[in-house]
Amino acid sequence: MFPERLTKGYRAFLEGRFAVERGRYQSLADSGQSPSIMVIGCVDSRVSPEVIFDAAPGELLVARNVANLVPRYEPPSEEDPSHQHGTSAALEFAVRALKVRHIVVLGHAFCGGIRAFVSDAGPLSSSDFIGRWMSQIAPAG
Ligand SMILES: [Zn+2]
Repeated sequence: MFPERLTKGYRAFLEGRFAVERGRYQSLADSGQSPSIMVIGCVDSRVSPEVIFDAAPGELLVARNVANLVPRYEPPSEEDPSHQHGTSAALEFAVRALKVRHIVVLGHAFCGGIRAFVSDAGPLSSSDFIGRWMSQIAPAG
């Protein structure tokens, strides 16, 4: 069950920040977003870019994945047209559609993804999603 504390937090947001910044939210709804900064961060629950930078709604475009990795450029191929590239799609959207001016890759201490890769522990088999994902940082062989 969703924790009641968070449900109350949502209500407090609606009655507090949302009510206070209603004009900003309305403007973002009417005109769309135009953030100048994209942040690629880790999914780690302790490292929320909006919280860390005290960002306003519409100020940051954020893409998060395990260990804040930026996959190499890999266009779709006819051999594997179903291959999905979430982070690449977010980057493309940020640069081509929103024309962000800065891209920040936000690493952090005690990253579980990096630690698991370095220590060769955890669910990192090549058949696991996370194992395949983290293999991107393996030295070229
Ligand atoms: Zn991390």
